[in-house]
Amino acid sequence: MRWGWTCPRCETDASVSSDPASETFRWECDDHSCEAVGFGFTSRRRARLALREYRERYQNVYR
Ligand SMILES: [Zn+2]
Repeated sequence: MRWGWTCPRCETDASVSSDPASETFRWECDDHSCEAVGFGFTSRRRARLALREYRERYQNVYR
């Protein structure tokens, strides 16, 4: 199951990485032409949950 790790907009894989400067985690679409990104999460798990919520919001708006 990789649904928590794909971009809500384009279904490309999204990477979760840490940001040492701010000591937070971020997720980012691997497709650089796609602007989907989220940042400022306190853990890798929270970043993934936020990615899932983003997907749900996005699908609710555009359904
Ligand atoms: Zn994307």
